[in-house]
Amino acid sequence: MYDCTQFYINGKWKDASPGEAFDFINPATEKPAGRIAYGTQADIDDAVQAATRAFTGFSRWTVDERLDLLATIADIYKTRWNDIAAAITAEMGAPSGMSMKLQTGSGLSHLRATMAALKEIKLAEPRGTYLMTREPIGVCGLITPWNWPINQIVCKVAPALAAGCTMILKPSEIAPANATIFAEVLHQAGVPAGVFNLVHGDGPGVGAALCMHPDIDMISFTGSTRAGVLVAKSAADSVKRVAQELGGKSPNIILPSAPLKEAVSGGARAMFENSGQSCNAPSRMLVHESQYEAAVEIAAAVANETLPGDPQDPATHIGPVVSANQFRRIQGLIEKGIGEGAVVAAGGPGKPGGLDTGYYVRPTVFRDVDNSMTIAREEIFGPVLCLIPYRTVEQAISIANDTDYGLSSYVWAGEKDQALEVAQRLRAGMVHLNGAPNDSSAPFGGYRQSGNGREWGQHGIADFMEVKAVMGA
Ligand code: NAD
Repeated sequence: MYDCTQFYINGKWKDASPGEAFDFINPATEKPAGRIAYGTQADIDDAVQAATRAFTGFSRWTVDERLDLLATIADIYKTRWNDIAAAITAEMGAPSGMSMKLQTGSGLSHLRATMAALKEIKLAEPRGTYLMTREPIGVCGLITPWNWPINQIVCKVAPALAAGCTMILKPSEIAPANATIFAEVLHQAGVPAGVFNLVHGDGPGVGAALCMHPDIDMISFTGSTRAGVLVAKSAADSVKRVAQELGGKSPNIILPSAPLKEAVSGGARAMFENSGQSCNAPSRMLVHESQYEAAVEIAAAVANETLPGDPQDPATHIGPVVSANQFRRIQGLIEKGIGEGAVVAAGGPGKPGGLDTGYYVRPTVFRDVDNSMTIAREEIFGPVLCLIPYRTVEQAISIANDTDYGLSSYVWAGEKDQALEVAQRLRAGMVHLNGAPNDSSAPFGGYRQSGNGREWGQHGIADFMEVKAVMGA
């Protein structure tokens, strides 16, 4: 059982005020994975005061000092690798191999990419009559989700430290244990008291209180578009900067010249990874009508081969989805898809055979999907792929852009130039050509209701900085 009933404030662990503590649930067993307590306004005020006091000194650290600190954090992070991976599997259900590699690996990648970016970023630039400087924005509230939990924590904490900011982290109440371990890493690395603080809690309580706090200068939020809107509204009265990384419904355009099998199976696998719980999942696959039947067959075969199961079993491809609520929501959307006329080509409603305990969802492929259907418009956040046919490339681009979101997108083509031409017309913050993977130094973020601001690499550090113009310098 993980204990998340303490908060890390001003360099010390502090017991939560007596009151209620809650279980958080292991989605594979439906039994408690640990206990969490939620912070009070007094805890938040203590953490904000500690961060405010620490800012004066920490904001003046040299780049070399910050680089040394990040390098030490990376070294200690490696020593806690297994603990972080085990916590992620227990609290959000990722298969243990995935937690060991991709989930926990993402934290180290961000630490390294942030160090590389900090070496490159220009903190002072003479520009004719003035000097432009970049300075840390101040005290930051960091609010993160459960789906790639350590990824989202580190891709905020590392650049905030690199920029010279101080911070209060409120991780997801659904997956808090990896955050507690990361706080131990930061403590052991010698992050000065008050620079990093951790207060556990839920969104409407601790999350909203951070957003409204008059002494916090910036909120960096990752989560659903629904909560992102509330965050921006709560932060508005104090005019703080709000960086939002929100949901997505990313298109995957497979052009007729693409290698069909590779493109469709790669896209389907990417959709099912992490049980479909990735903001940038390629959830709408657009296939030319002449190749549609073949594509349905390939995608259905991938779904049928994708094995949901116990996250501890090395044979498992995907674990359960995170919670009973998510399970019910996904089942509701699958039913809605059927009700609106989409046809199940693989998977469908209900749990996979033999998996009665745990929030398991069948990897599902929908065919005959029209882009106006609910399953093509709403983020399902489960292993559900929609296949949409198109007649012309023009039509494919227009379907791809016909969404409230604009986080990621994917294009497959026989020729890279052809893919690039389509990429330039997609209204999304990221495009992956022919299955190219993410790069931790490339800006990560979206258009429209997928948010604003960009994380990762140099853009991630710049998000935590103010720009100052010094005339006559
Ligand atoms: P969520 O919005 O329910 O919660 C995210 C975080 O916000 C949690 O820490 C939660 O406690 C907090 N929160 C909730 N309501 C709040 C409020 N009113 N004020 C302040 N904080 C509040 O999202 P989730 O279910 O944890 O995560 C899944 C969502 O996150 C999906 O929509 C996914 O697309 C999105 N996501 C986006 C990115 C990205 O980079 N764009 C990355 C990962 C996940």
